[in-house]
Amino acid sequence: MKVIFFSTKLYDRDFFSRANQQQGFNLHFLEVPLNRSTAVLAKGHEVVCVFVNDVVDADVLEELARQGVKLLALRCAGYNNVDLKAAAALNIKVVRVPAYSPYSVAEHTIALILTLNRKTHRAYNRVKEGNFALNGLMGFDLHGKTVGLIGLGKIGLVTARILKGFGCRVMGYDIQPSAEADEIGVEFSKLDSIYSQADIISLHCPLTPQTYHIINEESIARMKKGVMLINTSRGALIDTRAVIAGLKSEQISYLGLDVYEEEADLFFEDLSSRVIQDDVFMRLLSFNNVLITGHQAFFTSNALQSIAEVTLQNIAQFQNQQALQNEVCLF
Ligand code: NAD
Repeated sequence: MKVIFFSTKLYDRDFFSRANQQQGFNLHFLEVPLNRSTAVLAKGHEVVCVFVNDVVDADVLEELARQGVKLLALRCAGYNNVDLKAAAALNIKVVRVPAYSPYSVAEHTIALILTLNRKTHRAYNRVKEGNFALNGLMGFDLHGKTVGLIGLGKIGLVTARILKGFGCRVMGYDIQPSAEADEIGVEFSKLDSIYSQADIISLHCPLTPQTYHIINEESIARMKKGVMLINTSRGALIDTRAVIAGLKSEQISYLGLDVYEEEADLFFEDLSSRVIQDDVFMRLLSFNNVLITGHQAFFTSNALQSIAEVTLQNIAQFQNQQALQNEVCLF
């Protein structure tokens, strides 16, 4: 089975080559992203493996089908970048890695909360320069604060457990009930109650037509003044311009992002010697109460190993004509 990988970095190649010692597939790694001009490179491969920012729309899928592709293996959990309807029509199966390490993302969420609160990023630089003044570094006790989680799936629930350990009151909203959330002591709440009561709001739902810009001018206006907003899920859950307005009016006092709606043009690349053209992103960077990481929440060795193993198992199931355990289907 020949598998072509798009958007790979050295670490992808390392982890996949190691995991492939068990499977023995023919792996072909490309650095270029998948899009309309690169889809033709899939010629001669039955399987295409892609990541979060690869473009897998109807045009790209048609080209992949023309090149003989039968399986699209996502090496990530989210599948908002794939036109599932077009894939089904072209008889291209789609598989993903639904859970590789919810701990990686949940723990990064906590890192953003703690860093924004206690300003360790600023303290680190100050101490390096011999500046031991504490002005501007004051935080608050996380203990006793109310945290609202939007999305109580695997990552939301791990985040809830950690926050409970800090002594937080945890509220949660999801479109599905969760017995596990009850067990942990998460207060299942309406979105409105979360907006009006939470000191910290963290997003853990997928990007869907229903959740697109779930954080917008209107929802921000309903939040507590001085709220901390965290997004480690998908960039387009947040209307970035509305959040910038919220930061300027001080309705939002802290913003932690691991994802950004226009991240495909920025993240995963070293652009340090280029001029960044995205003015909205540059405005975000200008606030000292905004902390941005470049989609690294998943990036632990445990997660990468699991992603590689599960992706190759997904491909093996396809090769062996077994039921695809991690198939993404149209509902
Ligand atoms: P999951 O499928 O286990 O949980 C998602 C939860 O969101 C489910 O309980 C679902 O019912 C809920 N949901 C769906 N629509 C909703 C809505 N309209 N409002 C509220 N809740 C809704 O997924 P997960 O493993 O917990 O991952 C969550 C998201 O995290 C993924 O969709 C992905 O976008 C993101 N993610 C980011 C990274 C990263 O590196 N930053 C890594 C992995 C996943």
